[in-house]
Amino acid sequence: MKCPICKKTVEAPTYRPFCSRHCADVDLERWLGDGYSLPDVPMTNLLLEQAEHQARQKRAAPRGSCAPPRGPLPGE
Ligand SMILES: [Zn+2]
Repeated sequence: MKCPICKKTVEAPTYRPFCSRHCADVDLERWLGDGYSLPDVPMTNLLLEQAEHQARQKRAAPRGSCAPPRGPLPGE
């Protein structure tokens, strides 16, 4: 296995897949910063899609699944 940061062979499994703490930190900083290119799809589209999916699931759920249906009132 090779370290994805410095391409050295990883000998100790401590920081797998990185060779050292340093490289693990470098990778983390890349994720937090702009080191990795973000996907082309804007985040808002993904969120909209998720919300739509959830709304669809709610609509598909049978009525009264959350609250028990009200029976006839006593005395009626
Ligand atoms: Zn490394």
